[in-house]
This record gives sequence, C-alpha cells and structure tokens, in this order.
Amino acid sequence: MIIVMKPGATRDEIDHVMEKIESIGLVSHPIFGTRRTVIAAIGDKHGRNLDDIEAASGVERVVPILAPYKMASLEVHEEKSTVKVNGFAFGGKKIGVIAGPCTIEDEKTTVETAEFVKSVGAVALRGGAYKPRTSPYSFQGLEELGLKYLAKAREKTGLAVVTEVISAKYVGLVSKYADVLQIGARNMQNFLLLKAVGDQEKPVLLKRGMSATLDEFLFAAEYILSRGNQNVILCERGIRTFENHTRNTVSIATIPSLRLRTHLPVIVDPSHSTGHSNLVSPVSMAAVAAGADGIIVEVHPRPEEALVDGAQSLDFPAFEKMMVQIARIAEAVDRTA
Ligand code: PEP
Ligand code: MN
Repeated sequence: MIIVMKPGATRDEIDHVMEKIESIGLVSHPIFGTRRTVIAAIGDKHGRNLDDIEAASGVERVVPILAPYKMASLEVHEEKSTVKVNGFAFGGKKIGVIAGPCTIEDEKTTVETAEFVKSVGAVALRGGAYKPRTSPYSFQGLEELGLKYLAKAREKTGLAVVTEVISAKYVGLVSKYADVLQIGARNMQNFLLLKAVGDQEKPVLLKRGMSATLDEFLFAAEYILSRGNQNVILCERGIRTFENHTRNTVSIATIPSLRLRTHLPVIVDPSHSTGHSNLVSPVSMAAVAAGADGIIVEVHPRPEEALVDGAQSLDFPAFEKMMVQIARIAEAVDRTA
C-alpha cells in the first residue's frame, strides 16, 4: 500500500510513518515529490493491519496498490520520473540520445566516435566492454581495458558512459568506470544481478528480455527499485518472434503501453530491434513519435570494419541525419532533441 502524506508534512511525521511501517516487518520507501511525499509500504503484511497509520499526524490517506509491481507503478508515482545522468534528465522534455559502438575495440575508435556523437547532440556514449555473446567463440569484449577506454572518452568529451554489466560479481568494477549500468536483454531475469545493481546508486538501463512480457519487464525493474535504487531507465529492444526480416520484432505500442503502467523513463534501441542500419532512423522516428524519452543506437566510424554488429551500426553521416530527423519528430510531439 501507499501512504500519501499531506502537502507540507514534516520530516518527523514522515519518519514516524516509516518507523510504523517497519515495525510490522514491511520495508518503507519514501518518494519525495515536488508537492508531497508518498511512502510505499512493501512486503507481505501477513494479515497485519496498517489502517491506524491513517490516523498518524501528516497522513492524508492510505491507498492499496493494485499493480503487482508497486514501485514501478504509476499508482505510487503519478508524475513521470526523471533519471539524471551527468546533469541530463531522461524522462524530461528533451529526448536523450545514447550512441556509440556495439563493443569497445580500441582507444582511438572509442574517442573518435565519442567526439563525433557528442558534436551532433548525443548525451551519452555507449559501448560494451563485457559482451554477452551467443557463441563462446565470438569476441567477448576487452573487459577492464574497454572500461578504461570508455573512461578516457568521457574525460575527453564529458559524455556520460553507458556500459553493460553481465554478472553481479562485476557490478563494483563496472560502476567504478560507468555512469549508467546496462542490464542486457539476456540478463533481464538474472535476479542476483538485478538485486546487485539495485543495491548501488548508479542509474540502470534495463533492457527488455527477448521473450519478456511487459509485466515481466516491470517486475525486473521492481527488483532494482525495491532494493533502493530509484534510477531505472527502461529500454525496448524488440523481442523474438517468427518474423525474420528484422533481427527482433519491435512493437512501437510498447512505449505508450509502458507509459500507462509506469512512471519510469522509456527509451528504444533501434539497432538491436532491427539489425539493419537502414531501418534504424525510421524506427527511431517512430519511437520518438510514440513518446519515447530517448534512443540508444549503435554508431561506428567504419561499420564494415566493426568487430560486432556492423550491419546495424550507423556511420557518422547516417547518425547525423538521424539526429536531424528525430529532432523534427520531437518538435511535432512537443519535445526537443
Ligand atoms: C547491447 O546493447 O550491447 C546488447 C547486447 O543489447 P541486448 O542486450 O538488447 O541484446
Ligand atoms: Mn550490439
């Protein structure tokens, strides 16, 4: 359930309600809004009664939450939330573009790409240092050396760094270098990993699992939120279907459907969704038109030489063109890019 505090409730009143919730074995999560604070009481009540909390000073009302994913739900947090990444707010009016190679290959390409994507408006650099590959014989990433190249690119450009963490045991190491921890599609239900990123403070970019329903996607987000980390960005990257003209099948309807269920920012990955560079810009435009808060896109200076995912990577001119195209769409839907 959620306890809605009166506007202007004091810190003492909020603390008192939280103590009361915790005294019956539930976890309390305060969400400080601009006008008022709400406190989510999470856990199994085992029949214990929380009704008397309504009488506590500063409380306006106690509301049962119907959505099974409580903290991700719009019921707990009616306003859209924003996730700050290096001063940029995902979920705000401006569309956030995260761009960079599929995988970090060397320092020169990483810095060259970072400089270019920044020059045309990207707010963050992406790139995998630990790669989850289908085949154990495929390139697995440069690991910590790749993280160092990402950090170097951040130093040179000021761009935030988004990179994947594939195991709970690497969360400490990756978060030393990254500004945003990416959880890949293959790990969306790696519950130990979700808990580990929920226990630290860096924002998390959570990709939809390739066979996950929206409910399962939101439960995965709930794992992170319920551990205390409120900075979760959802990413639609397409799911596996019988269709094979694209690498995955991306449903644009996911974006407004998530918007009806959750306050979390939603971005789209048109690269892994489609697998083909010539489909990336049209899908990005559709995503922005449907209300996406951002795009994460693969960009490589020479896609034909890319070690991984060259066919879906944009070269620099194509990325620049995509930025212009999504800016036009953004304007049409009262956003900026
Ligand atoms: C990626 O973004 O590098 C990636 C591997 O994507 P996904 O987890 O969506 O397949
Ligand atoms: Mn890739």
